[in-house]
Amino acid sequence: MKPSVCSPNCSVRRVADPGRGTAAHSRAERLDGAVEESDIDALLVTEMNNVEYLTGFSGSNGACLVGSGLRIFYTDFRYATRAAEEIAGWEVEIVPGEWLSGLAGLISSAVGDGSIGIEDDHVTVRTSRLLGENLSGGTSLTDAGGLVEFLRRSKDDDEVAAIAAASMLTDSIYSEVFDRGMVGRTEADVAGFVVSRMRELGAEPSFPPIIASGPNGALPHAEPGSRKISPGELVVMDMGSRVDRYCSDCTRTVATGTLPEEAAGIYDVTLRANERALEAIAAGKGASEIDAVARDLIEEAGYGEHFGHGLGHGVGLEVHEAPRLGPRSEDTLVEGDVVTVEPGIYLPGRHGVRIEDLVVVGAEGISRNLSSHPKNLTVVD
Ligand code: ZN
Ligand code: ZN
Repeated sequence: MKPSVCSPNCSVRRVADPGRGTAAHSRAERLDGAVEESDIDALLVTEMNNVEYLTGFSGSNGACLVGSGLRIFYTDFRYATRAAEEIAGWEVEIVPGEWLSGLAGLISSAVGDGSIGIEDDHVTVRTSRLLGENLSGGTSLTDAGGLVEFLRRSKDDDEVAAIAAASMLTDSIYSEVFDRGMVGRTEADVAGFVVSRMRELGAEPSFPPIIASGPNGALPHAEPGSRKISPGELVVMDMGSRVDRYCSDCTRTVATGTLPEEAAGIYDVTLRANERALEAIAAGKGASEIDAVARDLIEEAGYGEHFGHGLGHGVGLEVHEAPRLGPRSEDTLVEGDVVTVEPGIYLPGRHGVRIEDLVVVGAEGISRNLSSHPKNLTVVD
């Protein structure tokens, strides 16, 4: 109940110096605005990517409470020193005793007779119950998922720079894979090379790479195995790295020699679907509208039933985050969204194609395509 937070029972503590000028500060301020517009008095953020996004805290246990001027970060005694080093502009409280009951006591006393939103997309039923049972007085819990995820969509320059660096590193590994040759190697060997090169270059894979050759390419989530890559087939390669905590994601499909007509044909259709969808992207457009641009083209070419996944997804601290580009998505693109565009055609038992670019959404169109590796059908033998 919104007004109650400023009622006489309210025990809101305001932070004197909220660390002005830091990215974390402006994020907390934006979240404060979002909470203000909602019907909760404060949001309890417990999803650790969201906690890190807001506060910069890199430990594995923490939570924060934002709203009505509150900026409180909670952790346990193990992280007292790290919290002091990493967090500026937040009141830091160490939760005594058992985590959930201790946390419930502290958030109750911070908000008083008010309603605290929890991130119901992430909080388990058990956590929600234990928090609820240990609240005191007139504090109530309500589901309020997705507020931080929405803020995370608009990437600032530093975030885009980290994603671009991760993307460039992945592109350079594509070049190395192609220079090294693929025919005769197993999928697992190529995948192992990708991961070890990422680590040598100081990054981590943002997900286990997919190297899917010939008929395996028809499985969108194929795991690299012992199949030897043969001449004259398609190889789908999907990989990304993580630099400064931010992920990249890029798929390229190459030919290992002259292709059967059908394989060359589905490559051509997929590439056109990718390019057409990229041209359609702009802030303010519906994510399902962009999906439809690619899907309609693939359907018209007769492969509609073989494009069985959504067109793309947001990328940032997580390799799959908001928004979602798909036929049923209700998201609208915003400036600063970093999204993939990855149409694919998968013909079971024969071959598959996926072409995935990672782009920054601007007001008029794409402000930057972070995937620079060429998309014309490349022959790698
Ligand atoms: Zn991918
Ligand atoms: Zn992807």
